Amino acid sequence: MCQICIRNLWGTERKYNYDNLQVHHAIPLSADKNLKLDDSNLITLCEYHHYLCDRGDIPYSEVKKIIDEQNNRAKNK
Ligand SMILES: [Zn+2]
Repeated sequence: MCQICIRNLWGTERKYNYDNLQVHHAIPLSADKNLKLDDSNLITLCEYHHYLCDRGDIPYSEVKKIIDEQNNRAKNK
């Protein structure tokens, strides 16, 4: 599900959003192709939040914080 919706951030309308999920690259592939499959650069987002990220309305630092949080949680399991 969308990792921003679940945290109720950036204009979330539905907390558990499974619709039109997309993978967003925090650092765009145009900047670094090597990050294509790098978990530390990937986040699942709904269409709306993906759009905000691509526009830069949601800053990279915020996106990266959520990705790191997720990866740490996965590691500690
Ligand atoms: Zn969302």
